[in-house]
Amino acid sequence: MKWWGWGDESTAFEHSDKPSLRPFIRRHLEVDIARATAAPVAFDELRVPDASVAAGLERALVAAVGAEHVSGDAMDRVVHARGKCLRELVRTRRGDLGRLPDVVVRPSSEEEVEAVLRAALAADAVVIPFGGGSNISGSLEAPDGDRRTVVSVDLGRLDRVLSIDPVARVAEVQAGAFGPALEEQLNAQGWTLGHFPDSFAYSTLGGWIATRSSGMQSDKYGDIAALTRGLRVATPAGMLVVRGVPSTSTGPSVREMVLGSEGRLGIVTSATVHVHRVPAQRVILGYLLPTWAASLAAMRDIAASEASPSVTRVSDAAETLFSFATKKDSSLADRLKSKALMTYLTRRRGYDLDAMCLAFIGYEGSERYVAGQRRRVGRIVASHGGLCIGSGPGELYDQKKFDTPYIRDFLLDRGVLADVSETAAPWSGLAAVYDDVTERARAAFVELGVPGYVMCHLSHSYHSGACLYFTFAITPSGTREPLDEYGVVKSAIQQAFVDSGATLSHHHAVGTEHAPWLEQDISKPGVAMLRALFDGFDPGRNLNPGKIVGVASAPAARDDDAVHLDGPSRRVVAETVNAVAVPEPAPEPAPEPKPAPRS
Ligand SMILES: Cc1cc2nc3c(=O)[nH]c(=O)nc-3n(C[C@H](O)[C@H](O)[C@H](O)COP(=O)(O)OP(=O)(O)OC[C@H]3O[C@@H](n4cnc5c(N)ncnc54)[C@H](O)[C@@H]3O)c2cc1C
Repeated sequence: MKWWGWGDESTAFEHSDKPSLRPFIRRHLEVDIARATAAPVAFDELRVPDASVAAGLERALVAAVGAEHVSGDAMDRVVHARGKCLRELVRTRRGDLGRLPDVVVRPSSEEEVEAVLRAALAADAVVIPFGGGSNISGSLEAPDGDRRTVVSVDLGRLDRVLSIDPVARVAEVQAGAFGPALEEQLNAQGWTLGHFPDSFAYSTLGGWIATRSSGMQSDKYGDIAALTRGLRVATPAGMLVVRGVPSTSTGPSVREMVLGSEGRLGIVTSATVHVHRVPAQRVILGYLLPTWAASLAAMRDIAASEASPSVTRVSDAAETLFSFATKKDSSLADRLKSKALMTYLTRRRGYDLDAMCLAFIGYEGSERYVAGQRRRVGRIVASHGGLCIGSGPGELYDQKKFDTPYIRDFLLDRGVLADVSETAAPWSGLAAVYDDVTERARAAFVELGVPGYVMCHLSHSYHSGACLYFTFAITPSGTREPLDEYGVVKSAIQQAFVDSGATLSHHHAVGTEHAPWLEQDISKPGVAMLRALFDGFDPGRNLNPGKIVGVASAPAARDDDAVHLDGPSRRVVAETVNAVAVPEPAPEPAPEPKPAPRS
């Protein structure tokens, strides 16, 4: 992974084969993309601060994992310091490195993870689990003011599928497995997890679990929270084991507490996850719909119908125009076909091409099943004025989806700040959320006096609603700190989410980026409950402090502002939970002599 951006050093977004993109960006963002104008600083020019690891801690870490897996290398420390949210990328590219981990440790087994955790806690160090470093919510960087040694625990060597139970259709997988390695091992035995986030190549099972990730095919397979049944987590209190049972009624769900906990409760070492047989057929078809309103209605009707596609994704008009602008130069025959289609849509179907929306709907299963699903969905789309445009666009999207993330670095190289914000809301409120968000984003562009673009797609449909995924970009004015201008737009969008009854994030987690809106989303007692959980389980605040709910100034300090409780329960909020020795069971009383049966 590049230390300053996304993905592999040898891969970059290329614009020269996409003739419509340059004029599109010039029109909307007033930038000429022909030339890069803002390269990241060279690695040699970075001022990497000295690491601080006490000799005793270093010895204990070396004893735990071996000297070759304890690294103080500058590149290692920089790569493990942060994820890939826009603020982090901009700061890193400038050479503003923030709080680096002092040491990166790479355990290869659960026992080694436990030993690392014990050593770090004994030295009162900060422990930050690291998967692929792909999060975009500020979930990795240690708090600036924390002067304790920071240990980054890279799970990358725990990358194996440990076992598959073909009868229960679950697999136990180590938490450091990256998407491709995980799928390769499962596919070799005819199985798939079916979890394909756009960051698939550079993210891990443990990271997905710790951020409650969603993949492109989550409509069929479920998001990672639905896929995860059992968990093994190294915690300050010992090894936490959640059995991989299909369902349970054992009080509030410990499994759910770990899901989305961003390393604050411990280090996930492995998980028991649902697996499915690799489908015989997998098709993604492209559709066009006349308007955004028709698109939302079609997706809602599909969700309410008996059809169960694996992917439901529809772009608004702004994103559809952007998609067309990123199309590669095509052959004359393709251009003529496309022109004929557009003529048909405008003349015969009454489409306004500037309002038209592009959708991708995917199907998986046996040939017969897929054919039946396509017919059902086709009828619903047609009832909303839409039509299928075949498998070509869908195949292209499927091949290219893992390359799209490189575009953000390409734009940063040209001074454009682009980012995403995603939410979920009920079907009944989805159109209003969309209107509110796009309106407030555009108002923010006007307030700042900068060119900006906002676009959206609906992805992931549920029984009661769907996820809306917004992408926005601005060309900063050059008269203010660019990140402040970016912050105005990002805040406007996040605030619009919570104001309109939607959630602050559907699958990108909270981290530090979204923490300011948490209370408005889950209420004050909700935040107090989370704070009590984290402080109670990790009273020294050693585990990835400051994420999800912020850190109060002193470890385990009481925060009576968070919630007001009366009586004895007042004490519960901030008191630490000490491991209590389980009392020996009292000796069984001698059985009462049975009365002699009456004759
Ligand atoms: C271009 C791009 C596209 C993306 N697309 C998607 C998408 O389609 N869907 C989606 O859901 N997300 C997406 N993301 C976000 C990101 O990939 C997810 O948040 C992902 O789940 C993070 O996994 P990771 O392994 O990289 O975790 P990291 O970034 O390394 O860590 C994330 C958090 O999890 C904690 N953590 C990591 N491993 C463990 C562990 N074993 N035990 C305990 N805590 C742990 C870390 O401490 C941190 O708090 C995208 C990001 C980018 C940059």
